[in-house]
Parts: sequence; C-alpha cells; structure tokens
Amino acid sequence: MSTWDEEIRQRMAAIRKQGRLRESITTGEAAQPVVVREGKRLINLSSNNYLGLAGHPAIISAQQQGAEQGAGATASRLIVGYSPETAALEAQLATYKGCEDALIFTSGYTANVGVLSALLRRNDGVFSDRLNHASIVDGIRLSGARPYRYRHRDLNHLEAQLKEADRLGIRNRLIVTDTVFSMDGDIAPLREIIHLKEKYGAALMVDDAHGSGVFGPEGKGTAYQLGVADGVDLHMGTFSKAYGVYGAYVAGKKEWLHYLVNTCRSLIYTTALPPTMIAGITTSLELIRQGEDLRRDLAEKSSMFRNQLRQAGFDTGESMTQIVPIMVGGSDQTLQYSRLLSERGVLSVGIRPPTVPDGEARLRFSLMATMKEQELQESITVIVDTGRELGVI
Ligand code: PMP
Repeated sequence: MSTWDEEIRQRMAAIRKQGRLRESITTGEAAQPVVVREGKRLINLSSNNYLGLAGHPAIISAQQQGAEQGAGATASRLIVGYSPETAALEAQLATYKGCEDALIFTSGYTANVGVLSALLRRNDGVFSDRLNHASIVDGIRLSGARPYRYRHRDLNHLEAQLKEADRLGIRNRLIVTDTVFSMDGDIAPLREIIHLKEKYGAALMVDDAHGSGVFGPEGKGTAYQLGVADGVDLHMGTFSKAYGVYGAYVAGKKEWLHYLVNTCRSLIYTTALPPTMIAGITTSLELIRQGEDLRRDLAEKSSMFRNQLRQAGFDTGESMTQIVPIMVGGSDQTLQYSRLLSERGVLSVGIRPPTVPDGEARLRFSLMATMKEQELQESITVIVDTGRELGVI
C-alpha cells in the first residue's frame, strides 16, 4: 500500500488548520452582471468580464459559425493545428499592437510559463515585481534563471537589483511586470521601468491581462494608454478577460517570436485553440476596437464605486482601475464578510493567502461596463452596511 492517502490527509489537515481551504462552487450565467449561485441571484462583482463581452451575441454567433470547421484544432500548432484563421488573427493583432508579429497561446497561464522558460536560461537575470501573477512566478522558476523579486512598484529596489546583477556580470537581463496588478488594481510605473531598462541594457515583458481591451486607444492596452508601448519588448495579454473569450497573445519582434515557435514548450506541446475560440476572439477584437463607449462606462463606474467606498472609510489601497480591493486583514473575517455579502445578494470572493501576502486578506471587487447604476448602488449599500457591522470601517 502506498503512503499517499495518509500523506494527503495530513496535508489537507494543515491547509484547513491554516484557514486556507478552498472549495469550487458552481456559478450559473457567469457572463452576466447578475449570476446564479446555490439557487440565489447575486450581483456579480467577481468577474473579469470587464466590458460584458462574454455575453455578446455577435461573439457567440461567430463561435457557432467557427464550430462548423470542427469542434477541435486536432493537433498542436507545428503539426496541423495552425489554421489560416489563426494566422489571419495573428497578423491583425500584430498590426493592431504596432508590433512586427504576434503569437496566439491557449491561455495567459501557458503564455507566461512558456515564454519566460523559453527566453530565460540559467545564467540570465530576471527582475519581477513581487506581486506579479503566479504564472510569471512559475515561468521564472521553470527557467532556472537567477530571480530577483523587487518590492511592489519600488523603482529604487529594482535599480539596486539591476546594479547588483551588473556587478555580478549577469549579461542578459529581463524585467517582467503585470501592467494592472490583479489583486490590487494598481498600475506599474512603466515609463520609469523603461528608463531603468534602457539604463541597464535590459529587456521588458509586460503582462497586460487586465489592461488589454480596457485601456489605451482602441483598447490596445496599458502601455499604449501611458504612451510607452515602443519601450516594451514583449507584450502579453489575455482574451479571457475584457475580450470575454479565452486564450492569450504575445506580440513583439518577428525574430523573437520565431524563436518562441521553436523553443516555447507550452506552444509546441499543446493542442492549439479550437476554431470556435479563434472565431470568437476575431469578432471580439473588432468589438474591442470600437468599444470606446464601453471603456468610458467602465472607467466612470469604477471611479464612482471606488470613491464611494473610500468615502465610507474603506482602505482600497492604490487601486486606479476596474479592480477595487477593500482590505480586511484576517482570512476568517474576510470569509465571513464574503459569506454575509452573498446572503445579502452581492457576490465577491474573499482573496486570502497564499494568493496575497499574509495578513492582507481582502475582498476584491471587479466591475463590468454593463452593470446597471442601480445594481452598483445596491451593492455599495450592502458592502458599507456589512463592513460597519463587522467593524471593518
Ligand atoms: N496574468 C494575470 C495578471 C492574470 O490575472 C491572469 C488570470 N488570472 C493570467 C495571467 C492568466 O490568464 P488566463 O486566465 O488566460 O490563463
């Protein structure tokens, strides 16, 4: 008999004891501002469907048409999984992002893990914001490169680490950062990071998962909004959030991407996205480009929501986007808060360690452009009343 049953029982007991146990709970109608959970209708403040496109009839209809070409891509990109539609979408994306080329990945997670582990080798140095997404952390780990984790958005710390790498003679240096941080809703100081990248002869990769479609002209992304897109060497973003579909892209120089086609294991050894997804993303890209009204609505609703919570006395950190956390502190209190909100008709999942640092458990709200004013006002009232009851404010 193996030792595994006992081992797993002990590990689960430890997770429970630390207050870190998680459960999967089904959610119906998740593409809508009001969802169904355990038979109850809840205002959805937990989705990444920022522009409401996951429920858009034109995208769904494009996906239905896409399915006429087959239910699956049947193989990876380098075998027979690379369709003319995928190639056309990559060409469109490259033009849209003002880059030489673009590659489509099956998800943001596989893009980050694959790109970082293909690009970085053991003797290279990688500089990563401490609050970067787990997929970046995993890609770095897998690469075996020398990791430097700088304090969140701390340029002095980043510069000190770049200097240290210089002193040690580490030649190839890559800075990697989320543009919009997923648990805080703040934005990386890209202009200043680019200044450092140039000063120390590094390259820069940005993960624009939460900025793609949301910021910049035609929704091109955060670096475009800040006017610094040319200073970014690799632009990564997802189609799973504002685009409302699934998958991810990486855009940059042709030779770099050709290198990835040759070396990136998460691109080479996985089945390509099915035709439904390619068709859905292609239509979503058109809607994103024309989506100024949606972007304005989202920005207005987000700042109204954030301001009202701040005025009520909540700590919303440095949030500047559609992601608005309220700091609670303890895991148990955060869970209790989240449970009470859901009893009162508001869905917000508590975020606990290890997703955020110890002692920084929080509720994370994310807004949708398509939410009704009344839904937002109702949510704010419930959040404030419950926060007072629990002594959070
Ligand atoms: N990067 C960031 C910053 C993210 O928030 C996420 C999704 N949570 C990912 C990457 C992974 O993207 P995907 O869900 O498409 O795998």
